[in-house]
Amino acid sequence: MTLHIRPDLDDLPTYVPGKTFPGAIKLASNEVTEGPLPSVRAAIVDAATNVNRYPDNGMVELTAELAKKLGVTEDEIQIGCGSVTLCQNLISITAGIGDEVLFGWRSFETYPLATRIVGATPVQIPLTSDLVYDLDAMAAAITDRTRLIFICNANNPTGTVVDADDLVTFLRKVPPQVVVALDEAYFEYNRLAGRQAYDALELRKEFPNLVVLRTFSKAYGLAGLRVGYAVADPQVVTALGKVHVPFSVNSLAQSAAVASLAAADELLARTDAVVAERDRVTADLRGLGYRVPDSQTNFVWLELGDDTTEFAAQCVAAGVVIRPFANDGARVTITNQTENDAFLAFARGWASKD
Ligand SMILES: *Cc1c(COP(=O)(O)O)cnc(C)c1O
Repeated sequence: MTLHIRPDLDDLPTYVPGKTFPGAIKLASNEVTEGPLPSVRAAIVDAATNVNRYPDNGMVELTAELAKKLGVTEDEIQIGCGSVTLCQNLISITAGIGDEVLFGWRSFETYPLATRIVGATPVQIPLTSDLVYDLDAMAAAITDRTRLIFICNANNPTGTVVDADDLVTFLRKVPPQVVVALDEAYFEYNRLAGRQAYDALELRKEFPNLVVLRTFSKAYGLAGLRVGYAVADPQVVTALGKVHVPFSVNSLAQSAAVASLAAADELLARTDAVVAERDRVTADLRGLGYRVPDSQTNFVWLELGDDTTEFAAQCVAAGVVIRPFANDGARVTITNQTENDAFLAFARGWASKD
């Protein structure tokens, strides 16, 4: 018997976990290789003694610490169970059936899926030939049904960023009542200079419809605990609070995030090493003939076209797990020299066989 499950969910893809095996070098999920700092581990262990209690649903301490650090008020911050949940919740509070959610493509896979889950329509605007969000084309695609716009900057999976002037020009074209989510999951890996440099929190002063999304999963190394945050107008924060799944940011996550903010200098120092490795790996790959855009993240994108699936399969067979997007390209996380060299050795072998 067929159960009454929404038929429009039938053609949503079923989640397929990435392949891995003991001893594999994991370069598929943009994680950091190092475990938590001793101070963060201690905070987690401490919090573990209280897991018989519900977490603080107001996330008071973490909200206060973030507000202090970012120079915003507490009513401008919403914490979520990973910023992926905040992406979903932004869609829930802005869009319903028949509404449009606009973003570039290829980009973060959550955007189209979460849009379809609420019955709204994803409007996906192809990246430019440089694999950057095409903000002119996106502005032209805004309609009176547009309810939410995602700009993934830097973009997952291409690693690219838009020019700051283009971003401001775009924001001026967006109707002021339409929410724009600037997804800065890789913010701590940005080394923006010249025409790319911008400050999202400053931009919010001119554009109150701008929501900034960041996470503790990437540079802060807490992917397994699930905690991210939005900085937004209090109207948005209030609405996000209404759809927040109660207690979904667990107590270990809250304590670990507070301890991570206290250790921010040490954690962020690690990003310099990743950035240096990113530049080295990019140069080496280009030297081997790969097309690799400049990345402002902890991963690089290899344009591989129809070779992508085979490339990734052989890479896994060589012990290095990467993230393929069939017929398009592969995303490879940058970690430390040893792991990156293992990937480069495979890439060198592949390049020399053609
Ligand atoms: C990793 C990532 C996120 C969020 O990750 P969480 O672990 O859910 O905080 C959000 N957006 C992009 C583009 C990402 O790559």
